[in-house]
Amino acid sequence: MSTVRFGGMRFAFPPYAPMLRDAAFDGHRDMTTLLYTHPACLEHDPGQYHPESPLRLRAVLDALEGPDFARLKRREAPEAELEDLARVHPRGFVERLLAAVPQSGHAAIDADTVMSPESGRAALRAAGAVTAAVDAVAKGEADNAFCAVRPPGHHAEPGRAMGFCLFNNVAVGALRAREVHGLARVAVIDFDVHHGNGTQARFWDDPTLFYASTHQSPLYPGTGSRGETGVGNIVNVPLPPMSGSREFRLGVSREILPALDAFRPELVLISAGFDAHRNDPLAQLSLDESDYTWITEQLLRVARDHAGGRVVSTLEGGYDLPALGASAAAHVRVLLSV
Ligand SMILES: [Zn+2]
Repeated sequence: MSTVRFGGMRFAFPPYAPMLRDAAFDGHRDMTTLLYTHPACLEHDPGQYHPESPLRLRAVLDALEGPDFARLKRREAPEAELEDLARVHPRGFVERLLAAVPQSGHAAIDADTVMSPESGRAALRAAGAVTAAVDAVAKGEADNAFCAVRPPGHHAEPGRAMGFCLFNNVAVGALRAREVHGLARVAVIDFDVHHGNGTQARFWDDPTLFYASTHQSPLYPGTGSRGETGVGNIVNVPLPPMSGSREFRLGVSREILPALDAFRPELVLISAGFDAHRNDPLAQLSLDESDYTWITEQLLRVARDHAGGRVVSTLEGGYDLPALGASAAAHVRVLLSV
C-alpha cells in the first residue's frame, strides 16, 4: 500500500494502481524516502581485520533489497564540495587529509583510523550523500532520506580524523542546512553506541544547533558525560554497560525528547549507528531491532511536529553484519512508512 498527501489528508492506494495515483495527483508531491549511496564507499578499505569493513555497507544495501524497499528512491551520492566540508573542518585539514591518502597500501592516521587508496573518494561521497540528502529534503523533493555510506563521521572533530571517521558527515549536512537552506534550528540525534565527540565539538557553542546522544559509558572515546551541555544545546545520556531497551527508551523519553521538542528543530538529522545492538562485538548494550523501530518513530514524530517531517539519517557504526542489516532495515522501514 502506498500513500500520498493531499490537502493535509492522507490517501492510500493499492500498489497495483500507480497510473491512477499519478494521474489523480499530478503536480502534487508523493511521499518519498531517498536512499543515497555510492560504490566508492565500498572501496574504502582500512585493512583486512578492521571491524569497519566494506562488508558492513554490503550488509546494509543487501538488507534494503526486496519488496519492502521497492519504494525507496535510490540516488548516487555526489562528492562533497570543499566549501561544504569547510563549514565543519578547517580547509587546511581537509587538504592535508586528502593529500595523505596513499597511492597504494595503507596510511594510518591513528591506531583505529586507516586510509587506503580509495578512502578520499569514499569520504567525499559519504559527506556528499548527506549534503545532497539535506538539499532534497529541504527543497521538498522527498520526505526523508537515508545515507548508506562509509566511512562513518561522528567521531571526526573539526581538526582531527579519528575513530574510523574522516569527515563529520552529519555535521557537514547540518551546517549546509543552516547556511544554504536557511533552516534556523538543526538537530542531530545520535543513537550510535559511541559518543559522537566530533559532532558535539562542532556544535558546542552554537545555539542554532542541537546534539543529543545515547551511548555506552565507559566506552571509546570517553566523552559524553551528562555535564557536557554546551550552551544548553547538548544532551548526553550515558548508559552503563549491559543497559537494554528499558534504559535506552527511558533516557530518550525523559531526557532527549523533551529537550528536542523545546528546541523545535526545522530539520532532524540522525547519526544512525547500530552498534548498541545486543550482538555487536564492540560494545555491551543490548538493544534490538524493535528499539531502532521505536527511536525512529519518536524522531519522525518530532519532525512532523516541528520540521515539516524533514528527516535525514546517515549510517554511523554497527559491526555485527546480520544485526546491522536487520537494524538498518527496521530503521528505513519506519522512514518509508511516514
Ligand atoms: Zn559506534
